[in-house]
Amino acid sequence: MPHTRPYHSIVLVKQVPDTRNVTGEVMTKDGTMNRSALPAIFNPEDLNALEMALDFKDRHGGTLTVLSMGPLQAAEVLRDSLCRGADQVILLSDRKFAGADTQATSYTLKCAIDKIGPYDLVFCGRQAIDGDTAQVGPQVAEKLGVPQITYAESIIEADEAGIVVQRAFDLGTELVKCTLPCLLTVVGSANQPRPASARKRIEYKLAAVPAEYPGLLQKWPEFGSEELLDKHLTERNLKITVWSAADLKVDESQLGLAGSPTQVHKVSYVVLETSESKDIPATPEGVQALIQELIKEYIVG
Ligand SMILES: Cc1cc2nc3c(=O)[nH]c(=O)nc-3n(C[C@H](O)[C@H](O)[C@H](O)COP(=O)(O)OP(=O)(O)OC[C@H]3O[C@@H](n4cnc5c(N)ncnc54)[C@H](O)[C@@H]3O)c2cc1C
Repeated sequence: MPHTRPYHSIVLVKQVPDTRNVTGEVMTKDGTMNRSALPAIFNPEDLNALEMALDFKDRHGGTLTVLSMGPLQAAEVLRDSLCRGADQVILLSDRKFAGADTQATSYTLKCAIDKIGPYDLVFCGRQAIDGDTAQVGPQVAEKLGVPQITYAESIIEADEAGIVVQRAFDLGTELVKCTLPCLLTVVGSANQPRPASARKRIEYKLAAVPAEYPGLLQKWPEFGSEELLDKHLTERNLKITVWSAADLKVDESQLGLAGSPTQVHKVSYVVLETSESKDIPATPEGVQALIQELIKEYIVG
């Protein structure tokens, strides 16, 4: 039996420092990472989560809201989400959210989802490449009181009874049937995220959070004032909604650092310096010598 009302999906996305290419320059003397020295990127598996939600919308219709908690610069991943096909985007940004561990992060996201209202599916990445805990998805599901399917690879079918999802695990895959609403954590092997469309890039070029208005006015002084710019963007659904703690029904003692039972004490990254690398000639002899060395070092064999 087909689903009665239009589906509504929510996708949780995070802007992260690109920790895949940490070089010595990024490390500070005390072994911590200078995150601002790294380019900020869309968390890779969140792109897979967004792609799965967009594919679901293509096949079953409905609308798609993207939600991110982070500093104002995180508006960039929301603009990108609009250019890939999201209908609505919301940024959760407030100094009170800063320093949040997964407990506080998932609580804040849960309160924002409560404010967004009825939904059928929540999609999130399996893991963020900076904290790497893979905890937020399951914690959000727990707090929402909805079932969760982790390591989701594809949605096989959907109807009034719910969805059937293929999930990946080390030895293969399994099919899981689940009622709605439910939360999915999506793996990187699930799909190839579609690129942002050129037409939407033009359409959403001006999409902005109010804090970005001064910069836009410098580029386009013809808008005259922030008020007129705000009116222009609002009328064209280009104003990115920003929610602070005051916009949510929250217990502030559960937010940010205050609401975080865990704090990152120190992070030590293994940075491979060039001195430790070795050029292996692409010859049978070169490969042979490498194998001998690996055997001698008890790394293989
Ligand atoms: C090196 C390091 C280690 C850390 N260790 C811990 C720890 O052991 N315990 C702990 O509680 N905290 C830890 N943190 C803090 C943790 O990173 C933050 O709480 C973070 O907001 C969420 O955890 P995560 O990055 O592991 O995300 P994950 O749980 O890996 O994220 C899974 C998915 O949840 C969604 N999601 C996560 N964060 C957001 C967001 N801000 N906005 C929207 N969607 C989001 C995304 O879809 C993401 O793919 C650590 C941080 C760092 C940098």
